[in-house]
Amino acid sequence: MRSYYLVLRSVLRLKPWLRKCLARCRHCGIFFLTDPRNAGRQDLGCPFGCSRAHRQRQSTRRSTAYYREPEGKVKKQALNARRRQTPQPPLPANPAPPELRPILPYICVMVGLIEGRPVALWEVVAMLERTARQHRMVRTRRIDQSVAQLHEKPP
Ligand SMILES: [Zn+2]
Repeated sequence: MRSYYLVLRSVLRLKPWLRKCLARCRHCGIFFLTDPRNAGRQDLGCPFGCSRAHRQRQSTRRSTAYYREPEGKVKKQALNARRRQTPQPPLPANPAPPELRPILPYICVMVGLIEGRPVALWEVVAMLERTARQHRMVRTRRIDQSVAQLHEKPP
């Protein structure tokens, strides 16, 4: 989490106008950047799971209430039957690294604020892939250089 706050601080230093987008999660108290339209609100949940967990709890509450009704019961049986028949959709070809997946929506918001435009989740995934590839290239180049140096001046 310390590295997260380091990133947040350096982003705010580079883009001081984003300070007004700084919000605090009302569930866990973590600071995060939010959409300018939400600036100043005190009732936000962080994108690290709190707001999702909150939404999920609410939707579970809604659907348990609904499925208790007779009409809902019939629908649920149909849903369950269909679920047994349809195979699960395949995973996307290039999923984000698992350690980054929970914070993808957050990176999405952050990149969107920095670039001043709405950014889609797949764009963030593509961006992360590009960065990872560049890191690999730099590393390979460095190894190549050391090998070349060893060739010139063997130890
Ligand atoms: Zn939270």
